[in-house]
Amino acid sequence: MLLYHRILPRLLTLTLTLPSRPASQLLLRPSRFPPRRPLLPRSAALCQFADPQTVVDHSDAEHLEDHSDAEEPENQFDAEEPLGDVQVKLPLDRLFLPPGAKVTPGDEEGVTARVLKGSNIVLGTYARGDAQVVNADFVKSSVRPDDCPKDGRPEFALVGRSNVGKSSLLNSLVRRKKLALTSKKPGKTQCINHFIINDSWYLVDLPGYGYASAPQEARKDWDEFTRNYFLSRDNLVSVFLLIDASIPAKKIDLDYASWLGQNKVPMTLVFTKCDKRKKKKNGGKRPEENVEAFQSLIREYFEAAPPWIMTSSVTNQGRDEILLHMSQLRNYWRKH
Ligand code: GDP
Repeated sequence: MLLYHRILPRLLTLTLTLPSRPASQLLLRPSRFPPRRPLLPRSAALCQFADPQTVVDHSDAEHLEDHSDAEEPENQFDAEEPLGDVQVKLPLDRLFLPPGAKVTPGDEEGVTARVLKGSNIVLGTYARGDAQVVNADFVKSSVRPDDCPKDGRPEFALVGRSNVGKSSLLNSLVRRKKLALTSKKPGKTQCINHFIINDSWYLVDLPGYGYASAPQEARKDWDEFTRNYFLSRDNLVSVFLLIDASIPAKKIDLDYASWLGQNKVPMTLVFTKCDKRKKKKNGGKRPEENVEAFQSLIREYFEAAPPWIMTSSVTNQGRDEILLHMSQLRNYWRKH
């Protein structure tokens, strides 16, 4: 940690994606929670970094369905601009080091070479060849955390506002067009839905939040239900909180992120719809600007930067990177 702080002032140039802009028009309610410690998954020591296995194929779009987004009519946008990598300078203290990893002096370049594309996540030794999904099957829907599978396999929970692109991302991760439809069937949308991956770990689809039409009482129940799950599930390696990067930050998402942070629930921010690069008129922002704004707004809740990653279920951007991130968290979790 000491070494880490010593090299903080040196800014690192990363082939990443963020211009920095203030998020002046976005407001976050003052915290109801006390300041918290750094959020790290069960961590100990990872002393070396492995060679990155970050060859990413974004060409395969076999799962593509209609991605027209009813919330945002096309005529609100300027002409589309080309998608490309944007240079950004990220300081070392905004990178997410794999659990237990440390940076040795002189290794800053090595660290930057191991940052997963479109993210702040450094790849470590625990990312293995087991990252890709070979098999995926629906296991069960649970109405209470106590009903969830009890075999102790590690799991990652996907959660986000309704319409954020959770089902599309799940389908993209497992390369199946319709696996997530299972959780959209009547009676299952408000359940904890477990999918077993490669017979060894779980992806968990949690109820979406922020349904405008849901009665207040029902919303309260779902909140309590998922919060209990977060706080009681021992084999939860990380929550993947999905945030729509094509629109400015929403208060409900900021509240969710800060709640997870304050309660020390390991969290990865997954920014969705990053292919939507048409800039809205009247002060609209690009995905990378929304990503930056969101992080500025939650920074006060985290001493250490939480991992984040930009994704698109249309182009499959971020899919392989998420799987590598999950792989290294999972493999570390298993050993500790
Ligand atoms: P869920 O309610 O969170 O499960 O969201 P869905 O996966 O059903 O997606 C909601 C809407 O957003 C649908 O119209 C999708 O086609 C669209 N969508 C989802 N992911 C993306 C994405 O990565 N890019 C774009 N452009 N649209 C997306």
